[in-house]
Amino acid sequence: MCEFCHKHGEGEKWYLQAQNYSTDLLGDLRRRTYIHEFFKNPERLGKNISRLDDLNRLPSFIQAVVKPAISNRQKKTHYGQVLPLEEIEKIFSFVNSVIRLPCICRHVSVGTEQRYCYGISVEPGEDTTMGKIIRSVGADYLTGPHTAGLETLSTDEALEQFRELEKKGLIHTVWTFKSPFIGGICNCDMDCMALKALSKSYQSMFRAEYVAEVNIDLCSGCRACIKSCQFGAISFSVAQEKVSINPGTCYGCGICRAVCRQNAIFLRDRSTVPAAANLW
Ligand code: SF4
Ligand code: SF4
Repeated sequence: MCEFCHKHGEGEKWYLQAQNYSTDLLGDLRRRTYIHEFFKNPERLGKNISRLDDLNRLPSFIQAVVKPAISNRQKKTHYGQVLPLEEIEKIFSFVNSVIRLPCICRHVSVGTEQRYCYGISVEPGEDTTMGKIIRSVGADYLTGPHTAGLETLSTDEALEQFRELEKKGLIHTVWTFKSPFIGGICNCDMDCMALKALSKSYQSMFRAEYVAEVNIDLCSGCRACIKSCQFGAISFSVAQEKVSINPGTCYGCGICRAVCRQNAIFLRDRSTVPAAANLW
């Protein structure tokens, strides 16, 4: 289990703990202010990514000290974990408020409004606390051409959208806003700051509690899964005409599984795979 499961999940999966989505945590004024500031200034995210480029130009012994320090600081404020679809389904079995909002990362990286982010919480009624906080921000990108404010969805509607987004190759990730409060689930690719940060050797989120494996007997060697993997974890053997997945690189998102028409890919509990058990 990841560090957050021990710290915020009492030894169980931290993102399956209903209290981590509660309005009690949202009652903390410092957390509300943090969320408000987070959405108010999206351009800050792009600047932070540029700073990582600067950091990567420094001597490696400095990077070895500074990168973990930044990551540890982020763990206290805004940190994520990759989740396969079945874990999203479990979360939607107990949260009862979902709002869909434009993605702050796509606003910064591609300049278009893409509604890939979902604010979630456990609370009664449609007018959610999270929704009220985000609405109060008044940031331009929250009132873009395709947004008449934030959309309130049922959990079934949201889940259906997640299934569609998965088919497009987007990776589901869960995020804290001042840990351990979980305020959102996003659908990520290389336009997202978290994946950009990972590509610059900076840990911005945990891998999933799972690792993908291939059933060689079922694999037809079509290579569709290779293209779908954002982490470059799948390779093709010309001699065998089959693929294999590197457990040391796999993030356990399950996107390769979604594109495999032979149902040859399955997820295994990370703790049962020695080469990946301690990789987060
Ligand atoms: S998509 Fe499935 S069948 Fe095709 S190469 Fe990957 S594992 Fe094999
Ligand atoms: S191999 Fe599959 S499960 Fe692992 S990171 Fe790549 S797409 Fe995700």
